[in-house]
Amino acid sequence: MTEARTIFRSSAATSTLAIHYHVAMPQPQSHLFEVTLQVEGWEAPLLDLKMPVWTPGSYLVREYARHLQDFSADNGNPTQSLPWRKLAKNHWLVETGDASAITVRYRIFANELTVRTNHLDASHGYFNGAALFFFIPGFEQHPCQVTIAPPNPDWRVTTPLPAVSGKFNTFEARDFDTLVDSPFEIGDHKLYEFEVLGKPHQLAIWGEGNADPKRIIEDTTKIIKVEAELFGGLPYDHYLFLLYLTASGFGGLEHKDSCSLIYSRFGFRAKDKYNRFLQLVAHEFFHLWNVKRIRPLALETFDYEKENYTTSLWFSEGTTSYYDLLIPQRAGIYDAKTLLENLSKEITRFLTTPGRKVQPLDESSFDAWIKLYRRDANSDNNQISYYLKGEMVSLLLDLLIRERHGNKRSLDDVIRIMWEQFGKGEIGFTPQQLREVIESVAELDLSNFFSKTIE
Ligand SMILES: [Zn+2]
Repeated sequence: MTEARTIFRSSAATSTLAIHYHVAMPQPQSHLFEVTLQVEGWEAPLLDLKMPVWTPGSYLVREYARHLQDFSADNGNPTQSLPWRKLAKNHWLVETGDASAITVRYRIFANELTVRTNHLDASHGYFNGAALFFFIPGFEQHPCQVTIAPPNPDWRVTTPLPAVSGKFNTFEARDFDTLVDSPFEIGDHKLYEFEVLGKPHQLAIWGEGNADPKRIIEDTTKIIKVEAELFGGLPYDHYLFLLYLTASGFGGLEHKDSCSLIYSRFGFRAKDKYNRFLQLVAHEFFHLWNVKRIRPLALETFDYEKENYTTSLWFSEGTTSYYDLLIPQRAGIYDAKTLLENLSKEITRFLTTPGRKVQPLDESSFDAWIKLYRRDANSDNNQISYYLKGEMVSLLLDLLIRERHGNKRSLDDVIRIMWEQFGKGEIGFTPQQLREVIESVAELDLSNFFSKTIE
């Protein structure tokens, strides 16, 4: 895009611009979402549309545009099509001429049930905004609406986005980031409401298994309370847990006021498996602070078109992993012995990974895009996960701070200062700033520690 066009389009920006996505799924068994994007109040002769190549929280270029088909554009009347062409793998350009109302239609194949992709079949629809919606460059800060048309009246729509009053199944996102950060579940899933610290929470469960919603809600409530106490309150108005039960799935994706979880459908009765599930809950919930609001500078503003490199995922993911072990113990879900057993397993896993002697921790974070998410036969030999080693470094820092201050300070203080200084205002932190916070809490020069463990 040329500078001249940018200037022209900025001046064309109008407060009357309306962006509205419609998502239909008339034949869910075909795995095809039918998306219609309506842009009204457009005042430029060209309209750029771009699809993200990745989604925050999952550091891999996934090329979501590869699932797009049947693209067309018109002026609202399907018989009056507008010319368009592709400029890049994820970039479409529509020649809008003097049309101010533009309708773009396309279909997205959705047959991958993970927390960071889309899935549509006869039982439900699940999607992530990054994998379904175009953004209009220059208008990412513009609010938009989403209307869902389920294939039958029994299907309900669950999303953290607020509903637009008076408009059926219509929701509003204040900007494109919020749209991307708000997954949708559409179907006859079970939906449970509960309140914690005066705030409404929901648990949606898709799939069958031996999950006991009452018990999950009780234990999740304990986790929420412990984490709220650590950070000094809950920074959202409401929160949604989306839980997907599959044969052997495992995974989570964090959002600011929701998370998506995939877990083994029969993993809720055996104690160790259930504890693992609650660690997953504690982990994704912890992220609503650490990484969703306390963000490395490289993730302060997302670039949806390419890799966003940061060396700080050891803190965003590793420290979160350390806390997902601690939180259930603090919540009384398991005892100190179980915590130590879990920690010992992690230490063993770390010590038996030869790649820990090859790849520095900050490089593991930086190269997440090409290594951690793209494991191969040599990965154990030349890589160390920033989750695992970040967890080990967090353990060492916690012990070091506690030892130095007679157990009166801990890594909790680091977390709280990071929240106060960076998270609350969503100001990106640099590796140096993170180190300064840690050193200020420890009251130690940690040059040697950092060069030995991280760099
Ligand atoms: Zn995580």
